[in-house]
Amino acid sequence: MIHFGELSMPSPASSTESTSAEHGVATPCVLVHYSEIGLKGRNRPLFERQLAANIRRVFGDEAPVEVRRLFGRYLVEVPAGTPPRLVEERLKRVFGIAYFAHALAVPAVLEAIEAAAAQVVADRAFATFAVRAKRADKSFPVDSQGINVAVGAHLRRVTERRVDLTAPDLTVHIEVVDRRALVYADRVAGPRGLPVGVGGRVVCLLSGGIDSPVAAARMMRRGCRVSFVHCHSFPYTNPASQAKVAELAAILGRFQGPAPLHLVPLVEIQRHIVAGAPSTFRVLLYRRAMLRLAAAIARQEKSLALVTGESLGQVASQTLANLTAVDRASPIPVLRPLLGWDKEEIIAEAQRIATFELSIEPHDDCCSFLEPKDPTTRSTDHRLAALERNLALDDLLAAALAATVVRLIEPLG
Ligand code: ATP
Ligand code: MG
Repeated sequence: MIHFGELSMPSPASSTESTSAEHGVATPCVLVHYSEIGLKGRNRPLFERQLAANIRRVFGDEAPVEVRRLFGRYLVEVPAGTPPRLVEERLKRVFGIAYFAHALAVPAVLEAIEAAAAQVVADRAFATFAVRAKRADKSFPVDSQGINVAVGAHLRRVTERRVDLTAPDLTVHIEVVDRRALVYADRVAGPRGLPVGVGGRVVCLLSGGIDSPVAAARMMRRGCRVSFVHCHSFPYTNPASQAKVAELAAILGRFQGPAPLHLVPLVEIQRHIVAGAPSTFRVLLYRRAMLRLAAAIARQEKSLALVTGESLGQVASQTLANLTAVDRASPIPVLRPLLGWDKEEIIAEAQRIATFELSIEPHDDCCSFLEPKDPTTRSTDHRLAALERNLALDDLLAAALAATVVRLIEPLG
């Protein structure tokens, strides 16, 4: 492995004929840029450290990388032979990355930059090109426009292609930082957002459906670390449903690493609600019980809020009246990142995060267990609280928590 430090000064002329070798070897690396949002003041070091740690984590032992911070960007050095596709697939999981590029790192010497630019475009098909240089290191004697002109002229000579500054087929980017230059042609869009770990902890109520995994991923994208609570009605629902939720949590783990999944038995509480409350309120009372259970788990985990996959008006239990009535059962805020999304948008996002195919596989949902035909669309906190007073759920909630099984879910490869 060649270390970037070795590149900081031009290496002595070698005996080979290649131009780049005369000025030091062009080292392939991956250049990562992050968005500046959220980088004010004291947040900045935290954000930067967390993002570097998250980049290392997605490669793990499979392809251990070195990550170096360099004036508002990172150089990621991957082991030789790592397929570019693997690099792209992994970096697309790291929230906080604005874009990245496979680049060549060379000493900041004009001839070396020109040679690297020629190497970067060598196997490309293009008729027109542009060069866009950024000189962050002002000790480099040529300014950005000077680099554009010199490298543009060199590429014209060696490729016999035309310069087009308005709509080029290919753009060669050059960044001069810390006595080296990074040269690349294609920017790959990152997932943006904030690095997981800078936004606090939340607990997501994860069902086996389409919506809640998307809600969890959206919170991760704002920097939250998410743990999971799933309520099941075993033995009335199939144990395969719990395995399905664990697998969804493992897919989501790609974005944040291992996380606990709390499997909470809801069946005794449901039985009690079915026996003691009108069927029209059943699902809402289940939902309030779930929020209370999840809030108790959130307290143990020092999480500040709950997250659900609800979207306004999607089903009877998600009317504005019902959402607000259910909400009041939770002692901590319930965040609903999909509240204003429609189903097509949610599905598109589920496909992007790769949970969709699994989510649409059939499963037993604990809320369809004893699901009434006539759910109300218009409840109130007052009405639900009155029903709960007749039910005496406290002991059952405590028993459900005591019987909860926690599994640490490792990310899927
Ligand atoms: P999803 O696709 O997430 O299941 P949905 O549209 O099917 O959503 P509901 O089944 O009404 O909606 O559930 C609304 C929300 O309540 C879910 O997004 C999820 O956050 C939570 N939830 C529902 N069922 C469970 C469960 N068994 N365990 C934990 N949370 C659940
Ligand atoms: Mg559901």
